[in-house]
Amino acid sequence: MYLAIDDTDSSRGMCTTFLLTEIIERSGLDIIGMPALVRLNPTVPFKTRGNGALRVNLGRGEGQTRRIGVFGNRPVRAFQHGSEAIAERDLIDMVEPVVREFAELGDDNTNPGIVVSRQELPEEFYWRAVQDFLTLDDAEEFLRKHGASYVRIKKGRGIIGSAAALSWRGGRKTYELLAYRYPHGEPLPLDRRMSMASEANTIPGTFNNVDRNNMHAAIFPSEKTPVILGIRGRDPEALLGQGMDMVTSWNVDHDRILVYESNQGTDDHIIENPVKLQDYHTYRITGRVISSPYSIRGSHYFCNILWKESTVKIAAFEPTKEFRQIFRQMIPGDMITVYGSFSSGTINVEKLDLMRRARLYGKSSPACPACHKPMENHGNGDYRCPTCGERQKIPHYTVVDRSLSEGHYDVPVIARRHLSRPFDFSAQTVGGTGR
Ligand code: ATP
Repeated sequence: MYLAIDDTDSSRGMCTTFLLTEIIERSGLDIIGMPALVRLNPTVPFKTRGNGALRVNLGRGEGQTRRIGVFGNRPVRAFQHGSEAIAERDLIDMVEPVVREFAELGDDNTNPGIVVSRQELPEEFYWRAVQDFLTLDDAEEFLRKHGASYVRIKKGRGIIGSAAALSWRGGRKTYELLAYRYPHGEPLPLDRRMSMASEANTIPGTFNNVDRNNMHAAIFPSEKTPVILGIRGRDPEALLGQGMDMVTSWNVDHDRILVYESNQGTDDHIIENPVKLQDYHTYRITGRVISSPYSIRGSHYFCNILWKESTVKIAAFEPTKEFRQIFRQMIPGDMITVYGSFSSGTINVEKLDLMRRARLYGKSSPACPACHKPMENHGNGDYRCPTCGERQKIPHYTVVDRSLSEGHYDVPVIARRHLSRPFDFSAQTVGGTGR
């Protein structure tokens, strides 16, 4: 039986992924396949942190198993196949009290949704939830149509994310190992976190672990939640083996570890070649730079590109740190592809591809056409020869070397979105071929 939950935490605490581990623990049921952490449209305003929904298939396990976690001292195993072991209503009756017990129901913005279904749901709903905006009515209509059962707690907005999690097929897939301590772990000193994050970076296929330039150990959450750390990777075996051993060897007080499959790092949120741009959607568009980049207070950078027939403003905001050094070196004429979310007329760039560089010309005083001596610049296009008095308006242009080369540029790890796929992933290693 497939179960999905969403919208249980607030910025003050809890994490829906931890709640899922609690449900698994209390259910006494087997896990079939891997549990999934499914990120959805990163621009929805009512998200708490990363707009993630959770799903798991619970039942009676059959076939081969593999260890996908540890709860206390007990290994947690996932079965390759399984059969039904609980009725829909019974699963909901078991899960709802756990959600009510752990969810941050005192927070206005926490509106849990639980969805249970005997099968996965049609994929189309996932694509709408990861790229577009949906309403509660959309989710209810979809769930009724496909015979899924659901519970809304308070406003119950979480059924949108839960329905989407049950529709995710994992065409492109990565993995994340999460370690927990309830209600939260103790903060570790920065140097310890940096060295652990650097060590995690040695696990094959892992990504977004550490940002040395910005002294940011990205495997650690920035807020106090039951999540102590999370290591993301493209190779499940490496996380299940070396990853789990490493976390255990760190002697960080933890109660549970669980490895999830995920759509993180897949670019699933990006709409390619759109017809028009709408707020709160993320796009990939290609255009020509038509203005020189400029900055405003707070050190945010902007410039305009010509996309189709329209001028689109693109931005590299302060949190993108050294990426702004790349951004500010663009010049009119550069052909670029930008990836980013659109809001109030501006694309917030999360990565860019400088496809074709424009030539940069430097201006200097010309040589005198009469006597070939260097002319003097008297300003405003007035060049005069000090030797023979000849005058000329046109300067001498030379092509200047640009330090910015053509290629792919990601924002640094500290500024990366969960869903954003770093350029150095190759299509084969993300798993599957996408859609
Ligand atoms: P949590 O860990 O509790 O899930 P979060 O950062 O993932 O925290 P939520 O608190 O779940 O964010 O808030 C996101 C809310 O937005 C959920 O209620 C979810 O159902 C809803 N949601 C997700 N995707 C969409 C979408 N595309 N359109 C509208 N609502 C959405």
